[in-house]
Amino acid sequence: MARRSVLAGLASGRVSRAEVCDCHPELMRVARYQGEPAESECPVCHSDANVTVTFAFGDRLAKRNGRMVPPGEIGDYVTIPGVTCYTVEVCTDCSWNHLLRSHGALQLETEVSETERQLRSTGPATESE
Ligand SMILES: [Zn+2]
Repeated sequence: MARRSVLAGLASGRVSRAEVCDCHPELMRVARYQGEPAESECPVCHSDANVTVTFAFGDRLAKRNGRMVPPGEIGDYVTIPGVTCYTVEVCTDCSWNHLLRSHGALQLETEVSETERQLRSTGPATESE
């Protein structure tokens, strides 16, 4: 759900606070100790304890897969093919959390080129056999 529609639902009572503030304990822990202050206050409880945390996912990261990424290193991670970084907004007061954005400009390109490579290597060869 888009952030705005979640908040609109919350304001109108269609969505309960427990539904939007369902932050995973591990995410809360990372947010509390390593989160960067968010650009704005928490949209739910208006606390300044609203922070952002970025995680990187991708098979190539091996042991670092799913780990938190320091803000200064996001640029390094997203240049790794197949790696996507997700920035999540977390309020450490009320547990509000929301996916703000994902970065991974190279991902689609990589998927396409890998498919092309597979087609080139296996496609014609199978037909000629
Ligand atoms: Zn809050």
